[in-house]
Amino acid sequence: MQDFFDFSRQQLQGLCSERFSVPILHADTLFREAYKAFLSHPWQASQLPKKLQETMSVEFSTEAVRADQERLSRYDHSVKFLAKLGDGELVETVLMPERGRVTVCISSQVGCAQACTFCYTGRMGLKRNLSAGEIVGQVMMANSWIRQHPGWLSKLGYPEGTLITNVVFMGMGEPLDNVENVSRSLDILNDPLGLNLSLRRISVSTAGHLDGIKEILRLQPKVTLALSLHASTERERSQLMPINRKWPITEVLAFLKKQYAGTKKSILIQYTVIHGVNDSLEHAARLVELLRGLPIKLNLIPLNDVEPTRFTAPDPARLEAFRDFVHQNQVRVMIRYSKGQDIGAACGQLVVQ
Ligand code: SF4
Repeated sequence: MQDFFDFSRQQLQGLCSERFSVPILHADTLFREAYKAFLSHPWQASQLPKKLQETMSVEFSTEAVRADQERLSRYDHSVKFLAKLGDGELVETVLMPERGRVTVCISSQVGCAQACTFCYTGRMGLKRNLSAGEIVGQVMMANSWIRQHPGWLSKLGYPEGTLITNVVFMGMGEPLDNVENVSRSLDILNDPLGLNLSLRRISVSTAGHLDGIKEILRLQPKVTLALSLHASTERERSQLMPINRKWPITEVLAFLKKQYAGTKKSILIQYTVIHGVNDSLEHAARLVELLRGLPIKLNLIPLNDVEPTRFTAPDPARLEAFRDFVHQNQVRVMIRYSKGQDIGAACGQLVVQ
């Protein structure tokens, strides 16, 4: 079976003309029926030619990603899905309602090769990349769940019919180790006849994969980039994030400064604050210097220490002092508490047990 969600509209147009010898506008119908009408068999739309209907019903599926388990947070209403892929592998997907938005955090790989020392996913190692269809399939799975549970958003005051508004590639995996499929998934998610999610509402997060940053900005210049920083010196960052030995952060930031100069775009910087590791005012001062000249928004994310490891969550008073120092130095900064901490869905907690 071929995964329908793996096909962009342009690829479906190619199928229509080359394989089925039918007008390419049928690709538009297929796209609308799948992404706007949420039909699980979009090829059964009555206006489609019989030959196309029959062949696609035998050869295509929209079920390459299925929700195997789901857990609803009692505290912040987020929902964590264990998503089962066609070959039985599992990844995690998290839905988060917040301030009028509905954000889905999606995975781009089964596991991750980058082995950041504080991250549960990093301990799994890399099993494989997700296809574009498996990335899109997570968004569709989460949207289907919202449609099947209308009370989830209505009790939070969202208008009827609200679906996912934002996508963040911050689940399992380093998205830029899988840049080609991530870029193809953006084409599909962004298509105006499909989910029509603006690239401004899609954030691709990276641990600092410089080759991948160059490639994704070439392929998708409008996408929002999020950089996981987590340290303020090369030495400390290399200890926390081995990727820093290949692409030192000063090199990555120098490239970004050049790339974003004169644009109105900004980069989201994620800094996981870890007790005794990167939470002092000296760290804050170095961070301010490191980021000087870059159009950024800085998120300080207190570490989630759900299981005993050598890393623990920061002291709240130190965290606030860190935030205040950075803020006084003209950096746009927020403390962001990870959602879904009680369901193992917070940043750095995603791991398939
Ligand atoms: S933090 Fe991101 S890049 Fe690092 S190991 Fe975890 S999933 Fe991979």
